[in-house]
Amino acid sequence: MAFIQSSPLPRVPPLKANSMPGEVVSVVGNVIGVDEETAYSWPACKFCGNDHLGKAQNPSTSEQHPFYYCFQCKTSFEKPLDKMSLDAYIACNSLPPEFCRIKVKMCQKSITDLLPQQEGKLGYELTSVLGKLIGPLFCVLSSSCKSIQNHQKNDVMFVLEELSCFANNP
Ligand SMILES: [Zn+2]
Repeated sequence: MAFIQSSPLPRVPPLKANSMPGEVVSVVGNVIGVDEETAYSWPACKFCGNDHLGKAQNPSTSEQHPFYYCFQCKTSFEKPLDKMSLDAYIACNSLPPEFCRIKVKMCQKSITDLLPQQEGKLGYELTSVLGKLIGPLFCVLSSSCKSIQNHQKNDVMFVLEELSCFANNP
């Protein structure tokens, strides 16, 4: 009798000091900071995800709730998607934080998971994510650069972008 073990995800190596740009790596770690300039949210079409929206007045009610109109779908709707952007600095399990800085551009689902369960409003609750454990996130290493200005010899900055295709799986 054969016993077949199936693994649902491909084996993704953890981020290492010698990981090269373009590699897909997995990252597990604690959030040690956020890039506030990247922390924002915007309304997007709930049908196609497009952010090219116009505001319209609901014609059928006298309420002041704005209606959004998607120029792509040519549809109006009341509740848009709350799309979010957030880059987090993390201390990675596979690399000591004193060795390098790691920045991850997170995808929507990971941001939602990370934020407290209150409306997902960014900007004011950023400190509440500090110390939280995230991952494993599957990311593409977009750059790895040695900082010359910095006097720490091994200060390497890794910039990663999460692969949203993994996170969008049901
Ligand atoms: Zn649309």
